[in-house]
Amino acid sequence: MLERRVALKSSAQIERMAVAGRLVAEVLDRLEELVRPGVTTRELDAVAERLIREAGAIPSFVGVPGPRGAYRHATCISIDDEVVHGIPGPRRVEDGQIVSVDAGAIVEGWHGDAARTFVVGDVPDETSRLVELTRRSMDAGIAAARPGAFLSDISAAIEDVALAAGYGVVRQFVGHGIGTEMHEEPQVANFRTGSRGRRLEPGLCLAIEPMFTLGGHEVAVGPDGWTVATVDGSLAAHWEHSIAITEDGPRVLTIAEPAAEKLPQAVGL
Ligand code: MG
Repeated sequence: MLERRVALKSSAQIERMAVAGRLVAEVLDRLEELVRPGVTTRELDAVAERLIREAGAIPSFVGVPGPRGAYRHATCISIDDEVVHGIPGPRRVEDGQIVSVDAGAIVEGWHGDAARTFVVGDVPDETSRLVELTRRSMDAGIAAARPGAFLSDISAAIEDVALAAGYGVVRQFVGHGIGTEMHEEPQVANFRTGSRGRRLEPGLCLAIEPMFTLGGHEVAVGPDGWTVATVDGSLAAHWEHSIAITEDGPRVLTIAEPAAEKLPQAVGL
């Protein structure tokens, strides 16, 4: 198989990606507080866009080309059977839904990309389990992203969680390399592809993003040209982190600064 060119990042470049990643995490933290019954997806998106622009960053999804023109929003918000790429609008979030929010930001040319699925109010155990295990599969995929392992180890770690739970694994959309572009080589499948894939090495930066369903793996793009939903109408969850592979193992980039580091510098100096 043809090995496409992959751009490895220096530790200084990874630090710059961590700045973008931190901003994306802060945006998702804020939206997590706001995802409540009655809020519209447009309102959530407006908050995300404001936070990104106030930080002097660029919302990376804006301008992504699509079949009916460029994307115009800072987030994708996908509810229940929608998997990814739901368009923010006047729709109101309702109790009992699962709401997946995907956000991306560019800081000084470097991308951060992350997604979380939020549970709104009371949902059946089966639903909260889907959301939790999809997140856990992302964590398993990240843990497998160690120098010397192979790309397929990430895929297998993610797929194993779905296999054990009996979930569908979306195949049409996968994770990806990330850096100065939102989508770089290599692709990161959430299932075994039959190929070992490239060897993982320090400097490789990836967006790891499992999409699991309570039913089958088949998805289709809706009439708006963007929204991807399950064909069988089953619920879907989506979690994503951008990570860097370092000598010491995987480093999650789309994570907020630990509280201790937010304390002011020594007072009086
Ligand atoms: Mg992504």
